[in-house]
This record gives sequence, structure tokens and C-alpha cells, in this order.
Amino acid sequence: MNSSRAPSLETICEFSRPFFPGCQIEILPRIDFTDFSKHGQNGMRINPYTKQPQYLTSFIIGHLKKMKRRERKHDRQELFCIGVTMADIYPGSNWNFVYGLASIDDGIGIYSFSRLDPLFPNAEMAGPCTDEVRILILKRSISVFVHEVIHLFGVEHCIYYLCMMNGTETEEEMDGQPLYLCPICLRKMYSAIGKEKKHFNVIQMYTKILELCKSLHFKDESAWYENRLNLLNITANN
Ligand SMILES: [Zn+2]
Ligand SMILES: [Zn+2]
Repeated sequence: MNSSRAPSLETICEFSRPFFPGCQIEILPRIDFTDFSKHGQNGMRINPYTKQPQYLTSFIIGHLKKMKRRERKHDRQELFCIGVTMADIYPGSNWNFVYGLASIDDGIGIYSFSRLDPLFPNAEMAGPCTDEVRILILKRSISVFVHEVIHLFGVEHCIYYLCMMNGTETEEEMDGQPLYLCPICLRKMYSAIGKEKKHFNVIQMYTKILELCKSLHFKDESAWYENRLNLLNITANN
């Protein structure tokens, strides 16, 4: 893994927080799953196209399930447990790769950021990113992460408006996807948050996200949130 190109997990979590009011997001210790091969299990392969190691999603999900059970024993009730990796992943021998996979019933997901680097599969050899590429990788990672966690809340792909819950199939579609929820998906999240609804305040949510967009130099997103906040504040003051 070329860690100098990896997006910051702390920043991804920080950006996710306002989307899930009332929920705590915590970064757990890193797991080295390259060990799977040593255990004589078939959880790894070399991808025939990229010639790079790839890890089987079911092994990682199995590991996260065990972790979740352990946490429960210590009375720590986790809603979801999400693994992110800079390694490439695949769901079965017939597949080339997958960006991510969730086990909705278990509240577990595994997502790979490796292919979000425009230089994949040669990112290993590349030097540190330019600012422009760093922002692109970070924005893609945040977008994938928040989108996938919203799926875990039971919200499906959006077919109504331009929205971060639109399904994407290509890189162009992914980069064209906004970092905000349309009114319908925002309302769905309000329902999904359940008893934490009292924390769901759109003005507070947008204010926090705008602050983060500005600090991360997400220009278009800053403009969108700023505009929305202006409209909301005008409505609130009338
Ligand atoms: Zn999706
Ligand atoms: Zn939507």
C-alpha cells in the first residue's frame, strides 16, 4: 500500500459525522488481513488483469462479524461495523473486483478505496499526490463511504433527483455525483435515524458540512451548501 496517497480516515469520519446526527463514529484499530493467506485459507489471489493482490470480501466480513460479537460481549452495542481498505477486493472467483460489499442484516460493510486513485493499479509506484489528485481521491472516498453507510440504514438508490444516493457505474458518474442528499433521501435519513431524530437539524448539519467543505477545498460543494444555508436562513427568519 502506498500510504502517502491514501485518503485520511480521520477526515472521512469527520465528514461523515454531520450526516448521521446522534450517532457516534469511532475508528477502531487497524487489522492486518494479509495474514489470512498464512492461515492456509483461500482469502487472497493475484488479480489476472492488474497483477496485484486482492482479498476476498467474505473473509473480511467474517472477521468483522467476529469483532462485532466481541464488542457485544463487552456491552458495546454497535449499529454498524465498516471496514475500509486500500487493498483491492473481490467477492468471488468469477469477479474481477468490487468497490465494496455489505451484509445488511449483520450491519457490516467492507469498502476498498484502492480503485478511487486515478493511477490505479500503478499507484504503488507513484509518488505523493498533487493537491488536485489528493482532493479528488478524498472526495471520492467520502462520497463512497457516506453513500454506503446510508445504504446500511436501509436507504436504496435514488431515482428522483441529482443526489449522493444515485447509483453510479462509471468513474464519470462517480465524479459527477454530488456530496449532498436530495430532499427525498434527506427525509428518508430523518426517518432512519429513529430515536435520535431530535438531533436531526438540517441547518446545523449543513453548517458543519459547509465548514468541512471549505477546509478541504471542495469548491462546488461549498457553493452548494452556502447557497442552501442562505435559503434556509431566509425561510427560518420569515
Ligand atoms: Zn449504492
Ligand atoms: Zn436522493
